[in-house]
Amino acid sequence: MINIVIAGAAGRMGQALIRCARRFDKIRIIGAVERPGHSDLDKDAGSVAGIDSINVRLNDSLPDALKNADVLIDFTLHSTVQENANIAVGMRRAMVIGTTGLMPNETEVINLAASKIPIVWAPNMSLGVNLLFSVLKKAGSIFSDGYVIEIDETHHVHKKDSPSGTALRLGEKIAEGLGQELNRLMLHDAENPDMAAVPGKIVIRSHREGEAIGDHAVTFTNESERIEFTHKAFSRDAFAMGALRAAQWVVTQRPGLYDMQNVLSL
Ligand code: NAD
Repeated sequence: MINIVIAGAAGRMGQALIRCARRFDKIRIIGAVERPGHSDLDKDAGSVAGIDSINVRLNDSLPDALKNADVLIDFTLHSTVQENANIAVGMRRAMVIGTTGLMPNETEVINLAASKIPIVWAPNMSLGVNLLFSVLKKAGSIFSDGYVIEIDETHHVHKKDSPSGTALRLGEKIAEGLGQELNRLMLHDAENPDMAAVPGKIVIRSHREGEAIGDHAVTFTNESERIEFTHKAFSRDAFAMGALRAAQWVVTQRPGLYDMQNVLSL
């Protein structure tokens, strides 16, 4: 049995993780952590997620929650991840990080933590998007000459980062296929989703609409053809199921920084 603690347990992803964990025979949620002052503290994590009680109360002490845990799953805020990673390192617990929008100094903390504990960190844990990552690297190497490359992403209006972590990773994979760095190719204008495509660049357009969970479309176009790759997440369960699969995998790994490509052997 793998004992899991969820940080951000009352959030949209935290609740999806609690609901989806019931589908795994070998996973048990033993801790559910929220920020100090959260209105759901002390409530049962199952009830907060809209299911029956799981006999785990939401609390605001990660060290207490991690005492008997094997792995911490973090879906919180970019500014919270580094503190959580330092606690996991101190207690030698494995980690799965789904939180996006980390600043370079926060990313550095994760890299350092990964020299002490195994960490799976991925901006999108859905199986479909991870397959797309590996397909797009190949696509970048094939459609390298004269194609206009565009990435279109749509998410709910509450999303804090833009472009999405997934759009950035899709761009990185295409750039890898092209043998270049994304930051030399990327054009993104958060204020202008209709900006013109520029051949030779990777244009990312971000849209924030209603409660959209996560749509990504990637196109390669030249004067004679257009190739489209799309992924739509209908439910946060797509990410939660991937994160739980990553949790099962990471507890068997040596310290290091991994992503879903490693988990899925892609
Ligand atoms: P959310 O705002 O609904 O949930 C975040 C939760 O974290 C909130 O309940 C908040 O109170 C809690 N939190 C904040 N500080 C905390 C702390 N110090 N300790 C414990 N809990 C704390 O957001 P969400 O939609 O669940 O997304 C969370 C993160 O996951 C975002 O960065 C989002 O972009 C990312 N995300 C990643 C994937 C993926 O597959 N990797 C999928 C969806 C969302």
